[in-house]
Amino acid sequence: MSWQARERLLLAPYAMFSCQSLGRVVPEDPHPYRGPFQRDRDRVLHSAAFRRLSGKMQVFTGDMGDYHRTRLTHTNEVASLARTIGRTLRLNEDLIEAMALLHDIGHPPFGHCGEDALHACAKDFGGFTHNAFALELATRIEQRHTSYPGLNLTSEVLAGQEFRSHKESGTVQMLEVQVVDAADSIAYDAHDLDDALKLGLLSWQQLHGLGLVRRAMQVAPIEQSNSMNRRQRLVHTLLDIQMGDFLQHSMELLSDATQLDSKGVQEVGIQLQMSPEMQSDKEELESFLFEHVYRHPSLVEVRQRAATRLSQLFRLLKSYPQRLPERFRKWALEWGVEHTVTVYLAGMTDRFCDEQYISLVELGRESAQDWS
Ligand code: MG
Repeated sequence: MSWQARERLLLAPYAMFSCQSLGRVVPEDPHPYRGPFQRDRDRVLHSAAFRRLSGKMQVFTGDMGDYHRTRLTHTNEVASLARTIGRTLRLNEDLIEAMALLHDIGHPPFGHCGEDALHACAKDFGGFTHNAFALELATRIEQRHTSYPGLNLTSEVLAGQEFRSHKESGTVQMLEVQVVDAADSIAYDAHDLDDALKLGLLSWQQLHGLGLVRRAMQVAPIEQSNSMNRRQRLVHTLLDIQMGDFLQHSMELLSDATQLDSKGVQEVGIQLQMSPEMQSDKEELESFLFEHVYRHPSLVEVRQRAATRLSQLFRLLKSYPQRLPERFRKWALEWGVEHTVTVYLAGMTDRFCDEQYISLVELGRESAQDWS
């Protein structure tokens, strides 16, 4: 069965159909058996930036153990949850997966700490956000083909990523974009709680007052399990109850929209969401995680280390751009040294950033005469 026929058979009228795509900046012939969003998914999956996600921290650093999520495993969890939602709502799973795999490829080393540090360095030269950088990777930095820069993704996948930079604008997006956004949030709340418990940053006693945890404990007899099972059951139940609530509430919202197409649901302003009660419990969990995990002393230390390393590397490479790899030296002539240095640092994995800091800053200081 062709991908066109498959979509006609399986997708709801309000899904984004591949045949409605506005296409790519550089037009390409159709593929014999992969639809345009499948091709986008594959292009992101095969990009260098995607592979580097395995070396980038989500919340906790590599030297804190091997159990917790990296930026790559977070991304895979988001894609999995988003596809489940998309399949249940009969939306375009290929588009959802492409956007989910793309959504975090712009993260610099050291997670949000690295992002803040890099933005502080680059604020007079255009600043830095991981969402905008993901678009820059996809449109001009990744090298896939000699006839165009970037990955030449479809306009819909790029628009989905573009929205992430302007969420506060309140513009209603395609349902597939909304699903990825919801899956991202459901995934990180649950896995950050799991990782923080495993790392001993949180105790079980601290969780008992949380509405979402109480709901989970009503569904599954978590207290009777041993500590490992208890944690896993809590996380699985948290995912399950949030996904179930999101799906149920979204299906109710969409029940009156069966005559609308993808554009139509945007025009009438349908925003997929959880029930207000679940949303409020979720916000309570997020405030709790912010207070007790993201501001934990061990993560404050990571923040300081990220700020020091990135700012010193930024200063040094800005003064000595000849130390940049060749293709970045060429870009520096076109984009300016400061932005090119920002791009170079943002692409680094945590480990590579540490190595460069030691070799360029610490050892470089000992042999300062080499820098002229
Ligand atoms: Mg994410």
